[in-house]
Amino acid sequence: MNVLVTGGLGFIGSHTVIALHQAGYTPVIIDNLSNSSEAVLTQLSKITGHSFEFYRGCIGDDALMQQILTDHNIEGVFHFAALKAVGESTEQPLAYYRNNVSNTVAMLETMAKCGVERIVFSSSATVYGDPQYLPLDEKHPISSTNPYGWTKVMVERVLQDYCAANEKMLAIALRYFNPVGAHPSGELGESPKGIPNNLMPYIAQTAVGIREYLNIFGDDYDTHDGTGVRDYIHVQDLVSGHVAAFDVHVKDSGFHAYNLGTGQGYSVLDMVKAFSSSAQTEIAYKICPRRDGDVASNYADASKARQILNWHAKHDLKSMTDDTWRWQTNYPKGLE
Ligand code: NAD
Ligand code: UDP
Repeated sequence: MNVLVTGGLGFIGSHTVIALHQAGYTPVIIDNLSNSSEAVLTQLSKITGHSFEFYRGCIGDDALMQQILTDHNIEGVFHFAALKAVGESTEQPLAYYRNNVSNTVAMLETMAKCGVERIVFSSSATVYGDPQYLPLDEKHPISSTNPYGWTKVMVERVLQDYCAANEKMLAIALRYFNPVGAHPSGELGESPKGIPNNLMPYIAQTAVGIREYLNIFGDDYDTHDGTGVRDYIHVQDLVSGHVAAFDVHVKDSGFHAYNLGTGQGYSVLDMVKAFSSSAQTEIAYKICPRRDGDVASNYADASKARQILNWHAKHDLKSMTDDTWRWQTNYPKGLE
């Protein structure tokens, strides 16, 4: 089956392209390179021995999308393309609503014209807002604390309403917890442009000497060591969750939401310690004030995915930090 991967040269999309190929699907990629590099295509070929069809462009471009969907007889869309920096979203909300919401709606309209009735959407645990209880299950009330998060809430709403109005439509929203790690080959990983916002790439860049020290945002939270606790999930587990969800629901319709997390929370200091051990080096850090909008703890109840998709996360913290370190040492500046 031919499938389109939007944002397929980005961190999670690129790893998913490999998993889809290995599962027997034929992925075609669209990416506008706003947060990725065409060099990822070479890495994908290196890892799989296969060259993938790639279109440089925007998912909101109706003519281009019609051409791709029809020329390749696309039967499902894995939708990763989005802007994802929380801080930037508060400074440039319109850019986020335009790219993440308006372009997704435009893409759904193009899909409708071309008879494509399956979508897997990259949602996020951010749709739970401030946790009212832990672990977070899919029944937790939906909310958000920033424009990026609201774009995920809105697209989920659009997909639910669209599925309700179109009995053949299948939409799967996968709510990611904290994706980290890299491909075990060391040839593919996360290469954020500029200063990383997220913890893991920041630690990795500190370990390799690009950053002087890590800023730890708060050590006075109500957690086992005072630093924030999150549910880190290896990108390889995340992508196997996509394949599992698509396989299980491919003949279904309707809206389905799943948490993809491990259920295990680690603190910032736990992550520093684990990374130090993988990299065999001390990681310098300074304790700073809390970051606006951060919560003390956040971790998943992933039992729905286990029960219905027969999926669970298999990689432990050591493989997350080992694989990240392998990638970081092979490509200290990412792919240029
Ligand atoms: P990423 O930035 O590495 O990948 C997104 C890709 O989409 C980039 O290659 C970018 O160039 C492309 N893109 C953006 N807008 C586009 C458009 N209009 N048309 C075509 N291409 C476009 O991000 P990622 O970490 O791989 O995230 C993938 C998805 O998962 C995003 O939707 C993100 O919001 C979601 N998500 C990520 C995380 C995380 O921590 N990485 C957590 C939860 C959810
Ligand atoms: N964090 C930190 N320093 C950084 C980046 C993140 O201390 O440079 C902390 C942050 O406060 C949170 C955890 O690491 O407790 C994970 O943050 P990240 O931005 O990676 O993911 P989030 O869960 O906020 O989406």
